[in-house]
Amino acid sequence: MATDWDVVIIGGGAAGIGAARRLAASGLSTLLLEASQRIGGRAWTVNIAGQALDLGCGWLHSADRNPWVDLAKASGFAVDRRSPAWGQQYRDLGFPQAEQDAADEAYEAWYERLAAVARHSDRAADALEPDATWNPYLQAISGYLSGAVLERLSIADYLAYDAASTGRNWRVPVGYGTLIAASLPPTVALRLATPVEAIDLAATGVSIVTRAGTLRARSAIVTVSTAVLAGGRIGLPSVLDDWCHAAANLPLGHDEKLFLEIVGDSAFDPETHVLGNPHDPHTGTYYIRPFGRPVIEGFFGGEGARVLAENGPAAGFAYATDQLAALFGDDVRSRLRPLVISNWSLTEYVGGAYSYALPGRAAAREALARPFEQRLFFAGEATHRNDFSTAHGAYQSGRRAADEVIAALTPHAP
Ligand SMILES: Cc1cc2nc3c(=O)[nH]c(=O)nc-3n(C[C@H](O)[C@H](O)[C@H](O)COP(=O)(O)OP(=O)(O)OC[C@H]3O[C@@H](n4cnc5c(N)ncnc54)[C@H](O)[C@@H]3O)c2cc1C
Repeated sequence: MATDWDVVIIGGGAAGIGAARRLAASGLSTLLLEASQRIGGRAWTVNIAGQALDLGCGWLHSADRNPWVDLAKASGFAVDRRSPAWGQQYRDLGFPQAEQDAADEAYEAWYERLAAVARHSDRAADALEPDATWNPYLQAISGYLSGAVLERLSIADYLAYDAASTGRNWRVPVGYGTLIAASLPPTVALRLATPVEAIDLAATGVSIVTRAGTLRARSAIVTVSTAVLAGGRIGLPSVLDDWCHAAANLPLGHDEKLFLEIVGDSAFDPETHVLGNPHDPHTGTYYIRPFGRPVIEGFFGGEGARVLAENGPAAGFAYATDQLAALFGDDVRSRLRPLVISNWSLTEYVGGAYSYALPGRAAAREALARPFEQRLFFAGEATHRNDFSTAHGAYQSGRRAADEVIAALTPHAP
């Protein structure tokens, strides 16, 4: 079969860009196909009202071993190494210190029970004390971390991430999305607005069907989200059913962000944080004036994010404004203007926030990451064993898949 390309990368998020960077120096001809009008995927910085706002990833987690830190430096982007304000409740508003201590203790106690519970159950909710006061708080935290209620989370998966995390979290003021989109090497060919509709297996290599025609390649790296893969958005031969089942066991959680602009004088101090209502499992958490900017970033997880996306932007901004007014006083209402809100669950070609493993299904990550016959390779955040759900895990998975392609196509290379 005549081939057009050695490698076609499907999807231009952090994983596709990681693969492209590795392949750029390999001598293999490489094409990246991206369905949407931009690269970055779930990394997306929008510039609104003079501010760089990350609608998707914003924090360089495990920053002291995160490859995007060096890439930022190489691109001339500053890295802000200050610790996040998440752990603090500004002036203890709506969350007295004694309650914060009790909530922390409840988290620690739940976390300690996980290992014991794991001997008979892999369901994170089974480590909850029935009807305990801080269960709604633990569900809210689960929403932020995993995008899902504890009833749907695998303990083994949760602990694998936690054991590998270094707990350092940094930022890039230009936006994580800007950094990631700027990191696609110019030598790799790119076609935007080109959704892959199907992948067929030829006698050798692969045929990649797009609206604009069919391409032939010796190999392909599939980096699309598990929602896209499990949702059948790309037609695949039935020999790949196991990969689709693995993707279905790693669903995307719900996480959404909204940004409010602060106009005029206000009671909001820079680089501070409040949890909206520690007793409400749907509550937003609010990062106030990141980098000193006149904005508040609201973050919603799990059921809270699902409800936010379902009710639409006006209801979402009203909910966030009500929560902030309840803490800071009614005067702040006149100081807050809606700027932008995400809806990752309904974003075509993404379909959610980040992957979590269902109870008993943590091994699906390795199952999804397996190559098929030296010609189809799989990457994306969900394929990383412990840095899943992150932009650095996605990047590393892309490089891992690119290494596998190089080993398969150029076996005698040094
Ligand atoms: C609200 C939110 C907050 C987050 N916060 C953080 C954070 O602070 N830190 C962190 O590290 N991570 C965070 N994440 C997670 C992080 O953004 C993702 O894990 C990472 O960006 C995923 O990269 P990826 O390449 O695996 O997938 P994607 O970014 O989804 O890339 C896949 C690409 O494939 C394309 N595609 C899909 N279907 C097709 C098709 N048929 N043909 C061609 N192309 C296709 C998509 O358009 C997309 O561009 C956050 C995510 C969200 C949603």
